[in-house]
Amino acid sequence: MLLQNKKVLITAGPTQEPIDPVRYISNHSTGKMGYALAAGCLEEGADVVLVSGPVSLTLSHPRLKIIRITTALEMLEESKKYFSQTDIAVFTAAVADYRPEFVADQKIKKNDDNFAIHMVKNPDIAKEFGMQKKTGQLSIGFALETNDEESNALKKLESKNLDLVILNSMQDDRAAFGYNTNKISIFSRTKARQDYPLKEKHLVACDIVAQISALLPVPVL
Ligand code: C5P
Repeated sequence: MLLQNKKVLITAGPTQEPIDPVRYISNHSTGKMGYALAAGCLEEGADVVLVSGPVSLTLSHPRLKIIRITTALEMLEESKKYFSQTDIAVFTAAVADYRPEFVADQKIKKNDDNFAIHMVKNPDIAKEFGMQKKTGQLSIGFALETNDEESNALKKLESKNLDLVILNSMQDDRAAFGYNTNKISIFSRTKARQDYPLKEKHLVACDIVAQISALLPVPVL
């Protein structure tokens, strides 16, 4: 068991940022990669806390706690409760970068020809953990890039103080959002790059778990 007795925090799915009581801003994330990683970590003996945005997936296991949230602020608030006890944090969530500054109490009427929403920046959960993490804690993030893939992924590794960054390929039409398959490259702090072929997401999860476990200190017997 690669992750025996390890406490793993995983964020997954999209966040939904309300505009009024009936509308929100979100993205196409389905949570499949995050849930596959949760299952992979559980199989390797970890205790998992999965902080999940609104998705249609479900998972149950005696060592799994799922916390369902809606907004980025809620995802941060719930994740923070576990930061200090976490050995490994994996940030798979597609957190909305911005949220409407004001949420209308009533449904907004279509009175005007134009309509604008003023947005404010959401907190970066991976970055907050990266700033707080102590020796022995690991954090892993994802990068979904359309251009300058490698340099943008490496920038994320630095700016969010990650130990690994996983680049999702946008070059393959069966990878990333919504698909059961994904094609990744993993970058470590030494800037080493490892490319993987297109695989089922549960097999991608196994590759990621193997890379994470390789960063763990070898137990003294
Ligand atoms: O900066 P960008 O959104 O491309 O970074 C992606 C990585 O950072 C992912 O691991 C994602 O889960 C995490 N992230 C986060 N909180 C945010 C934005 C991104 O945890 N507000």
